[in-house]
Amino acid sequence: MNPLRSLILAAARNGATRRLVATAPVSRDVVRRFVAGETTEDAVAVTRRLVDSGLAVTLDHLGEDTTDTEQAEHTVRAYLDLLSALGPLAAHAEVSVKLTAVGQLLDEGLARDNAARICAAAAEAGTTVTLDMEDHTTTDSTLRVLDGLRREHPWVGAVLQSYLHRTLDDVLDLSGPGSRVRLCKGAYAEPESVAFQEPVEVDKSYVRCTNALLAGSGVPMFATHDPRLVRIIGERAQAHGRPPGSYEHQMLYGIRPEEQLRLARLGHTVRVYVPYGGEWYGYLMRRMAERPANTAFFLRALVTR
Ligand code: FAD
Repeated sequence: MNPLRSLILAAARNGATRRLVATAPVSRDVVRRFVAGETTEDAVAVTRRLVDSGLAVTLDHLGEDTTDTEQAEHTVRAYLDLLSALGPLAAHAEVSVKLTAVGQLLDEGLARDNAARICAAAAEAGTTVTLDMEDHTTTDSTLRVLDGLRREHPWVGAVLQSYLHRTLDDVLDLSGPGSRVRLCKGAYAEPESVAFQEPVEVDKSYVRCTNALLAGSGVPMFATHDPRLVRIIGERAQAHGRPPGSYEHQMLYGIRPEEQLRLARLGHTVRVYVPYGGEWYGYLMRRMAERPANTAFFLRALVTR
């Protein structure tokens, strides 16, 4: 892995660095480029703007690695609040949930029960939930929770990461009728015992998984900004006889916004992942690790305040 990327991902998990950066007078504009804001109202306002421009949305209440039940409860309530505030926007906006934000590190059962409450509220609002995927130590647990939730709500979506060696098998398990699988490259620093280290290997795995998902009978959700992969997804979808609308393109809020609109204008469903809330640090650090230009932008803003 690129040394800068490893360094930034290590900083993302370091408590002292987290406190230093999170309390620095970071320009509101820097965080706002990638994060919708801190409140439910901010999230709903950004969702409305994106939906009005022809895009769909998945909303993430920021937070992860929670080790106390009160914090987990706070996160669940934030999702319930958001889902009831969406109103008619729920036809175009779902939520993404990190199980470690709702108690997975404390107890898998607690995370499952909390995620089930969010799923019930999503059903009531008329929308869906996708479980984000975190580092590989949580993959089996997340897929077990997914399986439990899908018994009641078959529309609960999963995320699979093409950098993991295991992922093609997971794709084949999860590409049946009604499944919703978001395929991404993967954003965590993972050891070579479990993950491809070379970008070209991660991309090849992404294409293998793309083919398997398109050959399946679920709704694949292709989460990538990579222009080459976006082109390959289009070509492979055609080859599999998949019309636009039978799969989704997904991108992060603030990244390649013109490309998001271009794909939507071509008739594709494009869903934008919109994070909001006060716990932006881990999320922002992963975005920095992906792109040195983002890091330069962030550091410049830190020192010029
Ligand atoms: P990269 O290899 O990062 O970038 C490839 C190319 O894309 C670049 O060379 C450039 O041409 C273009 N590009 C990338 N960033 C920019 C930019 N800022 N501006 C302009 N061009 C750019 N990861 C997880 O581990 N778990 C999850 O649950 C998860 N959920 C996600 C949900 C969504 C909707 C998305 C989009 C990503 C998610 N990710 C998740 C993150 C993902 O794993 C990658 O880390 C992230 O998307 C970067 O990979 P990439 O495929 O975009 O390609």
